[in-house]
Amino acid sequence: MKKITAELQKGHILVSDGAWGTYLQQKGLKPGECPEEWNISRPNDVLDIAQSYITAGADLIETNSFGGSRFKLEKYGFGDKVYEFNKAAAEISREAAGPKHFVLGSVGPTGKLLMMEEVTENELYDAFKEQSMALEAGGVDAIMIETMTDLDEARIAVKAAKENTNCEVFCTMTFQKIIGGEFRTMMGISPSEMAETIVQAGADLIGTNCGNGMADMVGMVKEIRSVNSSVPVLVHANAGMPCFVDGKTTFPESPEDMATRVSGIIAAGANIVGGCCGTTPEHIREIRDAVKAL
Ligand SMILES: [Zn+2]
Repeated sequence: MKKITAELQKGHILVSDGAWGTYLQQKGLKPGECPEEWNISRPNDVLDIAQSYITAGADLIETNSFGGSRFKLEKYGFGDKVYEFNKAAAEISREAAGPKHFVLGSVGPTGKLLMMEEVTENELYDAFKEQSMALEAGGVDAIMIETMTDLDEARIAVKAAKENTNCEVFCTMTFQKIIGGEFRTMMGISPSEMAETIVQAGADLIGTNCGNGMADMVGMVKEIRSVNSSVPVLVHANAGMPCFVDGKTTFPESPEDMATRVSGIIAAGANIVGGCCGTTPEHIREIRDAVKAL
């Protein structure tokens, strides 16, 4: 079922949700606490986040499962809870989304480095397979592999989700601007390298999330479009670059600031626009209005 990409093929621009991590912290998630455990212990708080993005006008919302791989959950002693936590995450967002909106099952990096031989390709594959299948069991429409920096890990995640679920499979990586103005992930991967490898691995949609505000995302989308004019592209931008004020991380871009950049990101070739760290339902509401106005 290619429900989301079918919508995009009709020429529609879709809006997705904003931050989850910073929102959970605002609701009381403490440093060192497992966010995914809240799907069981505080489902109403998680549901409230999901609902607030639907109310703000998001067409797609994510799930509280970014760190839901067995490698991440093991750190909290929850290595045997992958199925339970991820299925619950999907069910909560599905409840908020209803049948008319889409749910993207969030899958983040495992934190294990292939190049340091901390993990094998097969172990990574099995972990992504396990998490993706649990998200599908909870009712997600797509698997959203995100914030990736290692191309091999991203490729294995896409393959595992593709081969073991009937969901659409999306994948975004996190880039930074380096000296000379080019974009690279922490592991040295460019947006065009990502586009080639990840589309070949079977992804239905690719893109970029986190690490940057909307302004720098424009350059990344243009680079993806220079090597692939047809694959759908998603952008989840931060509310600007994080700054430290009075010992706290803050994000400088207001909802209005972000909204003014929406036409530029769509002109560059993005098909889905939403937020990452520091964005709130207010940011999504403004982005929604800016998309409508186009
Ligand atoms: Zn982020």
